[in-house]
Amino acid sequence: MCFILACTNYLARRNPKMFVRISHPIAVLFVILTTFFFVGLHMFYVVPQLLDVAGLMYKLDWLLAIFTMYNIFGNMLACHITNTSVESLPKDRQFPEPGEEHLWHYCDICQKLMPPRSWHCILCKCCILKRDHHCIFTATCIGHNNQRYFFWFTFFMALGTGAAWAIHFIATLQYFSFSDLISSDFHRDNLPPYWLVFTLILNSYILAAPLSSMLLQISVLILNGTLHDFNSDTYDLGLWENFKMIVGKQVFWTFLSPTVKSPLLHDGTQWNEKQSDIIKH
Ligand SMILES: [Zn+2]
Ligand SMILES: [Zn+2]
Repeated sequence: MCFILACTNYLARRNPKMFVRISHPIAVLFVILTTFFFVGLHMFYVVPQLLDVAGLMYKLDWLLAIFTMYNIFGNMLACHITNTSVESLPKDRQFPEPGEEHLWHYCDICQKLMPPRSWHCILCKCCILKRDHHCIFTATCIGHNNQRYFFWFTFFMALGTGAAWAIHFIATLQYFSFSDLISSDFHRDNLPPYWLVFTLILNSYILAAPLSSMLLQISVLILNGTLHDFNSDTYDLGLWENFKMIVGKQVFWTFLSPTVKSPLLHDGTQWNEKQSDIIKH
């Protein structure tokens, strides 16, 4: 995993334009195809091994699958179309207020002062407000304005692949009796089909990426940090405030849909530090 990250970083730095042109469509297509493949596999082949397809539970499972898919694709799209660059700010907010100049820093590439916690992305070619990282799966940078969508995107990806894995595992397990498992004595005629075992292993690999991304986002949320300053607690205002800072004023309602309006607490130019008495929003 680290090797892949090191390679992508190297390629991104070496030829940013080419990297964006190739990696973005491949990564986005990968998410779309993988999601459809696993939903189809899960609903048409794995779940019918456990549930009656004419029953209520199967219909409820379809509703959950559609809700999860809607939130995966909805948050992915919202992430992509939400501008989180410093340029997205109104013109008068793109300059420090009197007395705050020392908190801003100069970007050599954009050639102007930038707000605290923003930094330049060579792929987006601009400075990003509270930049977290550049995500090829949403084909954009993750920062102050779209981190809410990225958080729920990783959450629903992990939830979907995790739930699919659990049901897949149970469907495979039903081919073995408890005494088989205790004695490790598996009868040949009672083994699960090869495709079920193969897709369970595939599901395990696919689960790893969104699960680790979601755990990273939760770690970032706990300290109100970014992937850039991962261990820093400089802006940690407590778990609840940190969560609101990312998802906005509607907090848990944002779980329902990316279309839920949830204004952020501030515009991303002024940041309260931990135990700071100066509160400016
Ligand atoms: Zn810049
Ligand atoms: Zn970027």
